[in-house]
Amino acid sequence: MKNESKKYANWRREMVEKQIMSRGITDRLVIDAMLKVPRHLFVSEALIDSAYGDFPLPIGEGQTISQPFIIAEMTQNLGLKGHERVLEIGTGSGYQGAILSQIVYKVYTIERNNTLFLQTRKLFDTLKYHNIVTRYSDGTQGWKQESPFDAIIVTAGGQQIPEPLIQQLAIGGKLIMPVGGNFSQELILIEKTKTGIQTNNLGACRFVKLIGQHGWGE
Ligand code: SAH
Repeated sequence: MKNESKKYANWRREMVEKQIMSRGITDRLVIDAMLKVPRHLFVSEALIDSAYGDFPLPIGEGQTISQPFIIAEMTQNLGLKGHERVLEIGTGSGYQGAILSQIVYKVYTIERNNTLFLQTRKLFDTLKYHNIVTRYSDGTQGWKQESPFDAIIVTAGGQQIPEPLIQQLAIGGKLIMPVGGNFSQELILIEKTKTGIQTNNLGACRFVKLIGQHGWGE
């Protein structure tokens, strides 16, 4: 058991050096979170030894957990410091939420697939991620009662950023989301200022569909 966890800690260190730091991720909070979170516990048993590979992996229900570098890049671009309340749309395996939970004060995460929602809520409990709150609903409508959020991360792609999410973002807050068509999107980072919205395009990416009232149809 002890050797097992050492093995995975070594794989994690290798992942962070070869896939994350060597490609320009410099934020210490992101690096430390990725060294800590046991990614192999967020995939099914059959994939456990592939968990630290440089690629996305299936998590069941036709969904995927992103490649480690994408997780790091999205997280770094939110510019988090530690005091934030962050909203995540698309809980999935829970890995991205777990990374955020190591960095910020509180994570609110929404999943629309009931199987993944129940499975991941249980995993968060088992792993004692007590600063993550989960919700089963359509994340394109946000989480109005808990808004405004200091940052919002959408881990599924849509044709545009859902309007409720922009409304529920605090002034000075950042939102990151894959925006585009069915098969490929661009990673869009927006910052909400007093005078409007600043938009940055971080380049091409590929995510599963964001499905809901302000996303793709069923
Ligand atoms: N962040 C996840 C990535 C999961 S893939 C991880 O780290 O594993 C994207 C997830 O978004 C899927 O689980 C999918 O069911 C979910 N999703 C798609 N549309 C959604 C919506 N409108 N609201 C909430 N979750 C949604």
